Amino acid sequence: MAEIRLEGVTKRYGAVTALDDVNLTIDTAAFTSVFGPPGSGKSVLLRILLGLEQVDEGKILINGQDMTFASPRERNLAMVFQNLALFPHLTARNNIAFPMRRRGTAETEIEAKIDELANVLSIGHILHKKPAALSGGERQRVAIARALIREAAVYLMDEPIAALDARLRDAMRVELKRLQSELGKTFIYVTHDCDEAMSVADKMAILENGHVAQVDRPDGIYAAPASVYVAELMGSPRINVLSGSQFADIIVESLKSLSESRVPQIQSGYPDCRIALRPEAVRLHQVSEQGANTACVSDIERLGAFAIVTVSKGGESLRSVSPGDIPLAVGDDVCLTADPDGILLFDPDNGSRLI
Ligand code: ADP
Ligand code: MG
Repeated sequence: MAEIRLEGVTKRYGAVTALDDVNLTIDTAAFTSVFGPPGSGKSVLLRILLGLEQVDEGKILINGQDMTFASPRERNLAMVFQNLALFPHLTARNNIAFPMRRRGTAETEIEAKIDELANVLSIGHILHKKPAALSGGERQRVAIARALIREAAVYLMDEPIAALDARLRDAMRVELKRLQSELGKTFIYVTHDCDEAMSVADKMAILENGHVAQVDRPDGIYAAPASVYVAELMGSPRINVLSGSQFADIIVESLKSLSESRVPQIQSGYPDCRIALRPEAVRLHQVSEQGANTACVSDIERLGAFAIVTVSKGGESLRSVSPGDIPLAVGDDVCLTADPDGILLFDPDNGSRLI
């Protein structure tokens, strides 16, 4: 178990600044996810932590000790890489056992650990096979087992379940979270999948072009994103960031009859802000009379429990999460209102959240 701290860590490759003054504390015995779009610096951050590459500026502290220039071995961190590197000539069992055998651990202890991990990762039935005979998902789970079998201070994972199919990914998320809490180890988990980052983590760090855009509990970030960048990354379907005034006018108009505390704030902040509205806060109603606050249904995705309805007006569009059986069809006119809790206002210049 270990606490890791990065202080002002910067890493450059020629003209590219891959990490830009990163300050981040990874808590002991917790599950931290590092989330950001491709190219935001996630893998570089892990390589720097492992000691595979050196920082240009800043410090890395492990349990308060300066490890900035320590070798990978001294840092004692275990890693599951994005690209699997299993030994092709060894069975899954021998691949998993490899790091412990190399350290001279007793065979009985190795066998007991493999059994425990095989159980958690559902790979007991494939331990006799070699990598070529395994599916991508099976290989990934064997690689995870091989990383976890080592006693390490911290376990780092770079998109460890990206290659699995959707059903298996959902199951693995739950398993990894359980594994972390049972083992009581420090996990750092990198992913570009927001649902994954939110579901596994106690704490989430969001990267934007190599710098940390926000760090908090996932629900805290969702409720109060620091910037429009973060708001657009969190949640599916994505938040509506309005480009013009067609919907903004309707939304602010629809708040007039409400007495909730946020309404005066929103009304006074608008129209000098960028206004964003969560899809689940958009309410669609039957049109009672042809009014100014109507829009036209341009698309419906029915996904069972809910439907994503896109409405359009004057060249702008807006997504709503509505009940799966909402009686609407493409081309219908609808009236829309908004739940004030789902409205966020951002600074038009720097994108920071105002309300
Ligand atoms: P991701 O968030 O997708 O894991 P990376 O951490 O791999 O992103 O990369 C962050 C940035 O650093 C990207 O712009 C990438 O092109 C650049 N980068 C990463 N590794 C190298 C390298 N060895 N040489 C040059 N540029 C690199
Ligand atoms: Mg990467």
